[in-house]
Amino acid sequence: MTSQIEKHKFEAEVQEVLSLVVHSLYANREIFLRELISNASDALDRLRFEALTNPELLEEGETLGIAIELDAEERTMKIADNGIGMSRDELVENLGTIASSGTRKFLDALKEQKAEGSPDLIGQFGVGFYSSFMVADAVSVETRRAGEEQGWCWRSKGDGEYEIEPMSDLPRGTVVRLHMKDDEGAEAKDLLSEYAVRELVKRYSDFVEYPIQMEVERDEPVLDSEGKPFEGKTETVTRTETLNSMKPLWARSKDEITSEEYTEFYHHLTHDWNDPAESIHFKAEGTLEYTALLYLPSKRPMDLFDPSHAKSRVSLYVRRILIMRECEDLLPAWMRFVRGVVESSDLPLNVARESLQDNPRVRQIKKRLVKKVLETLRELLSNEREKYESFWGAFGQILKEGIYYGEDDDQRISGLCLFESSTHDGLSTLAEYVGRMPEEQEAIYTIHGSDRKTVESSPHLEALTARGFEVLFLIDPVDEWMLQRLQEFDGKPLKSVERGEIDLEGDEAESERKKKQEEYKDLLEAMQATLEQDVKEVRFSSRLKSSAAVLVTDEGGLSPNLERMLKGSGQDVPKQKRILELNPDHALLGGLKRLFDVDAKSPRIGEYAEMLLGQALLAEGSALEDPARFTRLVTDLMVDSVQS
Ligand code: ADP
Repeated sequence: MTSQIEKHKFEAEVQEVLSLVVHSLYANREIFLRELISNASDALDRLRFEALTNPELLEEGETLGIAIELDAEERTMKIADNGIGMSRDELVENLGTIASSGTRKFLDALKEQKAEGSPDLIGQFGVGFYSSFMVADAVSVETRRAGEEQGWCWRSKGDGEYEIEPMSDLPRGTVVRLHMKDDEGAEAKDLLSEYAVRELVKRYSDFVEYPIQMEVERDEPVLDSEGKPFEGKTETVTRTETLNSMKPLWARSKDEITSEEYTEFYHHLTHDWNDPAESIHFKAEGTLEYTALLYLPSKRPMDLFDPSHAKSRVSLYVRRILIMRECEDLLPAWMRFVRGVVESSDLPLNVARESLQDNPRVRQIKKRLVKKVLETLRELLSNEREKYESFWGAFGQILKEGIYYGEDDDQRISGLCLFESSTHDGLSTLAEYVGRMPEEQEAIYTIHGSDRKTVESSPHLEALTARGFEVLFLIDPVDEWMLQRLQEFDGKPLKSVERGEIDLEGDEAESERKKKQEEYKDLLEAMQATLEQDVKEVRFSSRLKSSAAVLVTDEGGLSPNLERMLKGSGQDVPKQKRILELNPDHALLGGLKRLFDVDAKSPRIGEYAEMLLGQALLAEGSALEDPARFTRLVTDLMVDSVQS
């Protein structure tokens, strides 16, 4: 008979992931069991789900479960399930390639950051099946897909190749057989002992809903015909024991769950190695009954802003059956950082994906979940500021996305936002800012920029600082987008100090400035004529104290920060003409006026105007259009001044 063994090479990335996992996670190698049990439990979930529409996949009275078998002599461990199984193509696809683009990105990120060996990063994606190669030097997978006749065996030594062979007479489901490495050293835990397996299952997989069984040997007293033990006589009997309690964690009562159990379940659910920041567990009773166990992660996952993953990710169970692993209708998309499970007995089992979103019960659940998450965050902000700030560092941007998408009518999200400011170290909420506002201050002042240093020294702040007004620094690139929606907080308008008019001077000062502007009219017009390409108006400013010039955006115009960001992302941005404001009290202006009065046609006027515009651009962190020309003008000026 000709051999039907097909040999394949792993996709290059698989081999990379494999080596990475084996080498970097070695200290945590015992997690392989949790990963394999988790795969088995997923396969059982999928079978149960498919059987809803195709009942013949299941046999009458069949128990779905997972079995572990140890053979210390052969050094093998088997993990078997009677779940969905895999067809030949699924075997190749699932165990030989990396289907998820997230994994590819993860690999790129790892290479970039040279963070090899950082479990933090590795924990962000499921190491899954490949973790078996941490403990095994050879792995085989025998599997038969539910509904198919033909079974298959997949084998590999984790050395870049695998083979696949057809196999007859396999039961439905999958058996993963590990040939365990023998390099543990005398003191290392022998993973092939009943004790070790029992402990690992208890620790990591207790809440798996299917029985995880193992045959164990026990010395038991030999009984006589009346059921009494014979003195001192024992025999070795083999029994099948269920190692896990099987009750899903969310279905247990809150006060009997330890924080370790919550954390373990989070790891199980998300594959994230980091502990969650917070868990939210509640049961809704009454007209609509459901249980929710939600988690707020502590670290930002790699794919949070990946457009292909921009959906919320809570699993939906109906009467113990997993209906959807990542149900996008239970939370709005911007809450996709929340992970967890919702189980309801009030939804129909055959609830279809399309109808979920229109289901009034689902909408009701969603509303309540959003409320709970926001409440939890508010409590964290009030009671555990440090922890909240760390959460904010990881997920602040996504809360701002919620504001941008118009989900902040009641200001519950904006109330959670934190900002740096001109007068305070650290971060402040909008409410804290408002609480510090002097009585005469009417608006919440903001300035945009790429970093604290640039905005801190911006001339735009001068008049506000002089009045004792605080300015919020909006230095996160998404702040610009958010502000399109967030226009007021607690009844106070948000006002960008770089836009339009700033009404800070008294009436008297204003009329004086206007008078002076009239006096200087011809000079200002001459300057504007020189700068016509870039500036729509040159006028006197009420916002400057020490600087000579500043650029101001029209009320509806594109801010320079946004302009820089759009250009940076390769977009074609039409040229923005802005307003050049000059400080009427600056000595330079008096000097220019004298020069202008003597010789209105002096080329110097235009050159000074150019230099003032250049300075204003540099001060706000923008680039000069012609840096060489600017440098030459400044150098000429310096030469003049050292010679005079
Ligand atoms: P993950 O579980 O994170 O998707 P794995 O590498 O562990 O990654 O598994 C890859 C895929 O192989 C799974 O998504 C699943 O489709 C399939 N698979 C693994 N184990 C089993 C199993 N016991 N039964 C059926 N399919 C399985």
